[in-house]
Amino acid sequence: MELLLPVTCAGCGAPGSVLCPRCGTAWRATPQRVSVDVDFPVWSLSPYNGPHRSVLIAMKERGRRDVVAHVGAVIRASISHLVARGEVEHDITLVPAPTRERSRRRRGGDPVERVCATTRLSTHPCLRIPSRTPDSVGLGAEERRRSMRVDLLRVPPSPVLLIDDVVTTGATLQASANSLRTAGVLVRGALTYCHA
Ligand SMILES: [Zn+2]
Repeated sequence: MELLLPVTCAGCGAPGSVLCPRCGTAWRATPQRVSVDVDFPVWSLSPYNGPHRSVLIAMKERGRRDVVAHVGAVIRASISHLVARGEVEHDITLVPAPTRERSRRRRGGDPVERVCATTRLSTHPCLRIPSRTPDSVGLGAEERRRSMRVDLLRVPPSPVLLIDDVVTTGATLQASANSLRTAGVLVRGALTYCHA
């Protein structure tokens, strides 16, 4: 079916390629440290807008898998950048931020996990949001922080870097770090595609 449909840019809809040169360049931004209310550093590639937002929605909500490799390449380059700056170890383990089983089923897997897999760096999907956790929609930052639970399914090799698509309040990332630390895992920080 894909062969019959014209290829369009996941960032702006322009015909001809999976990611047009303009959106591709925008996506190659270097990771910047952003201010999030968590007790570890968070690096992000971009505010949640423009081609970053469109590509993210295309992967997450429209099931576009053709851009996953591009995003994976950007994440890999970003980690090399953090390694060069001495922020993380060269053999750091990537831990995708947790999802709910419900969302995984609806989307046929987890897009962040898929992106991590294409980086060819050591990746350990080991976190899950238990189904009893109330939905965070409509909750304030503080309530969200209090109600957020993250289960550790197995212990990944230490140290780790959390990977997520968008960071907002940081509640999920903080709960993830807490779970990992309880098991003795060193959390160097989090790298996200966007911050909102
Ligand atoms: Zn584009």
